[in-house]
Amino acid sequence: MRKKIVAGNWKMNTLPAEGVELAKGVAAGRGEVCSCVNFIVCPPFTHLSQVVETLKGSDIAVGAQNCATEAKGAYTGEIAASMIAALGCKYVILGHSERRQYYGETSATLNKKMEQAYANNLTPIYCVGENLEEREAGRHFDVVKAQIEEVVFNLTAEQFADLVIAYEPVWAIGTGKTATADQAQEIHAYIREVLRSKFGAAADECPILYGGSCKPSNAAEIFAKADVDGGLIGGAALKAEDFLSIGKGF
Ligand code: PEP
Repeated sequence: MRKKIVAGNWKMNTLPAEGVELAKGVAAGRGEVCSCVNFIVCPPFTHLSQVVETLKGSDIAVGAQNCATEAKGAYTGEIAASMIAALGCKYVILGHSERRQYYGETSATLNKKMEQAYANNLTPIYCVGENLEEREAGRHFDVVKAQIEEVVFNLTAEQFADLVIAYEPVWAIGTGKTATADQAQEIHAYIREVLRSKFGAAADECPILYGGSCKPSNAAEIFAKADVDGGLIGGAALKAEDFLSIGKGF
């Protein structure tokens, strides 16, 4: 049985006090959702600590949205994976399309970040996905395959056993356009097949989340698909009620 996961990527939203309120809201309503759903929230760095504190005693995990390629040292403005882990975080989102697009993150960068994450016992939520042009040219399978081969294939079997993948078509992120449930299933099954070619049966244990305008009204249909194990949620994670309601989609 694969883990069912609903992860919230708050991006660069919420001031610390707002983030704490949001986390309190999620914790308050969590009991209404099946305990089989693993909730994760990923606030900005500035209030990771406060959100970890707020969620203490709950089963809601906290993750960061990024980490540095290096362990420590003269890297002004960067945040090391060890610092994130020291706050009590369990996860880190890596390779989000906004990081790839706006901050030039490449597979080479991401290989280093993955190493840092594992060295500090953080579970990476590794994001893959094609842009609109690539989808329209029918290249989405190749793009996603390359993003997996160039990074995930460098992991050991032990590291792979502690990985979450998020498939996020760039054309669906924050646009209100969602992949259909069938489109999501098609590419999730493909991702699993690519993973199986390298990691064998362990691929059947790897949670693959869908991300891209996932909301309470479409989550159930998408989550019902065989290879969709939950969602990475942007906009709808900023309202506790919507975020929790997505969890009810299982
Ligand atoms: C995301 O950026 O990870 C995301 C899925 O955003 P949204 O849900 O807003 O499309």
